[in-house]
Amino acid sequence: MEEAAYIWMDGELVPWGAAKVHVLSHALHYGTAVLEGTRAFETPDGPAVFRLDEHLERLRLSARIIGLPLPYTLDELRAATLETVAANGQPSCYIRHLAHRGYGEMGIAARDCPTVVSIASWSWGALLGTGVRLMTSSWRRNDHTAVPTAAKATGPYLNSVLAKAEALDAGYDEAVLLNAAGFVSECTGANLFVVRDGELATPPRSAGALDGITQDTVERLAADLGLQVVRRDLLRTDLYAADEVFLCGTAAGIVPVSSVDRRELGGRGPVTGKLADAYDTAVHGRDPRYRHWLTPVTT
Ligand code: PMP
Repeated sequence: MEEAAYIWMDGELVPWGAAKVHVLSHALHYGTAVLEGTRAFETPDGPAVFRLDEHLERLRLSARIIGLPLPYTLDELRAATLETVAANGQPSCYIRHLAHRGYGEMGIAARDCPTVVSIASWSWGALLGTGVRLMTSSWRRNDHTAVPTAAKATGPYLNSVLAKAEALDAGYDEAVLLNAAGFVSECTGANLFVVRDGELATPPRSAGALDGITQDTVERLAADLGLQVVRRDLLRTDLYAADEVFLCGTAAGIVPVSSVDRRELGGRGPVTGKLADAYDTAVHGRDPRYRHWLTPVTT
């Protein structure tokens, strides 16, 4: 990966290589951390972070859900985020917030470990190609009755890691996970939309998917484009029968799916194209209707 100059850690910027933790940190052993993935984009007024407040709010919510004390206010975290990106001098970047239960006590029950908060930013290009070959994973999505799927917590990501590895090993680009009831949930690091007969559909929160900020952005852009959008349960065969399927997430952006389980879909269709263009315009600050989603990084 491309290293940057600094990482913000517990209140101060430290050199990238010095941002270290102890091997007995609670989160390393038990997955007790919450994270966010946010992006800053180049805009006509300089770099700006897209939907920063929504990402920080989800971090706060994730910490609350897993019972992790967050020792900073959202205002402090907003300022720290902007400070990090500015110090790293990046015109655009990916930003990773992490709040983890640190070192202090061992054992599952340990609650006296301090929460360590870090913010890193680095240049990260498109994560998936322009036509993703999807595979239905043999792994089912985490069930919300076993782990809180509404929290973006690190422990549950083992589910995504397993599904992604399986898909890559089988020669695909990405996995789509069904939930325990067999309905489509999401991909390993992105939500998913299906387009059929002019209607856009995405699984509901109850399907076990993360409450995606890009998913929400797509819904708003689609509504402004006059497209019909619904959240409803989707079957695996709805993917095969779709006119278009696309993935969406902060890291991935809006990415067309070219095939699902080797059933060809044809890649970027007209609806995906319109939405991808609208998204690109919004994140780069070129549409005044969406400028309130951008927080400038003042240097
Ligand atoms: N689902 C999962 C499992 C993810 O990791 C992500 C990326 N955070 C998403 C969906 C998309 O969420 P967002 O649009 O908020 O980045």
